[in-house]
Amino acid sequence: MYQIYLSPPHMSGEEQRYIQQAFQTNWIAPVGPNIDRFEQEVALYVRAKGAVAVSSGTAAIHLALSLLEVKKGDRVFCSTLTFVASANPILYQGAEPVFIDSEPDTWNMSPRALERALKEAVQINQLPKAVIVVHLYGQSARMNEIMELCQKYKVPVIEDAAESLGSTYRGQYTGTFGDFGIYSFNGNKIITTSGGGMLVSNNEEALNKAKFLATQARDPAIHYEHSTMGYNYRMSNILAGIGLAQLNVLQKRIEARRAVFQRYYKRLSHINGVAFMPELRETITNRWLTALTIDCDKLNIKPKEIINVLKKNKIEARPVWKPLHLQSLFKGCLYYSHSEVEHIAETLFYTGVCLPSGSNLSVGEQTAVIKLLQTSMMTSSHSIV
Ligand SMILES: *Cc1c(COP(=O)(O)O)cnc(C)c1O
Repeated sequence: MYQIYLSPPHMSGEEQRYIQQAFQTNWIAPVGPNIDRFEQEVALYVRAKGAVAVSSGTAAIHLALSLLEVKKGDRVFCSTLTFVASANPILYQGAEPVFIDSEPDTWNMSPRALERALKEAVQINQLPKAVIVVHLYGQSARMNEIMELCQKYKVPVIEDAAESLGSTYRGQYTGTFGDFGIYSFNGNKIITTSGGGMLVSNNEEALNKAKFLATQARDPAIHYEHSTMGYNYRMSNILAGIGLAQLNVLQKRIEARRAVFQRYYKRLSHINGVAFMPELRETITNRWLTALTIDCDKLNIKPKEIINVLKKNKIEARPVWKPLHLQSLFKGCLYYSHSEVEHIAETLFYTGVCLPSGSNLSVGEQTAVIKLLQTSMMTSSHSIV
């Protein structure tokens, strides 16, 4: 197995205290004071009106789509450069995803592609029921342009901020621009509850409905009365306790991940053919993952080969997400590229590498990773001549 992971959990040491308290008071599940507190603290932190703690980020996306009444035959636009969990809930609802390409400055949803897609959609009377915009690897998308377009066409926005908790765009937290935002506390994310997610919104009525749907949609009656289909999506009180302890160290985790990025940048950015994922002006990314691209013409080494070199040394690195419009699961779905000739997400997939970025990655470990990267890139460029 690996000795250095891409993004392992990083406990603070305080989690046990919250878990013990839950045990002592027998608030094991399903509800309990940690859940309420965790929701309040996340909402306060990102400056949203409210939050609903759920079992995963995927569940939070699904709830957002349910609240927007996305149903069979509807269309939902979604960033193409993302993890499959961004789009799976569209399928849960029987709706049809339409994938939107990235743009070079954020690697996130291209406003140009989105505008083309919306213009065509309005012409055929097929405007989407929602737009799911992803903040990849912690970098905020161009929210001004995206929100302007969606407001113009009156399409609700769901922000998949699973990877970008704590990142800001013009001083505002990602996840709080759209009608709904979602965060993930999966084991690999910037903070973790081992598994979990959060739905945030300024629409308190919708959040109350989300709680209702997430707890099997029980109508108010002492017996079990149901008039709506619901889900079992609530977070447990124990996991919310872990979340409270993790939230206390979120700022530290962001600083540590940004420091990891800086160390890679300092030692590798001068290499001709290496380019790091940019940070858009007026945004602060949590640098959940450090990602870079390799120009194979200049370096004569492919991302796959770099990943293999690291793997041989028990170090985990990964390609950038495979765009969803290239996945066989979504064969036949519509896709809008950045421009007629530019397919940004595809290029990023073919050239990108994600490096070990854990907030608990020691300087010594990172130095070893950097040395391997330097030698593999140097030997390869020598072999061109
Ligand atoms: C992790 C992740 C999700 C899903 O979160 P889970 O909590 O694992 O369900 C969704 N979207 C993106 C972009 C993610 O990285």
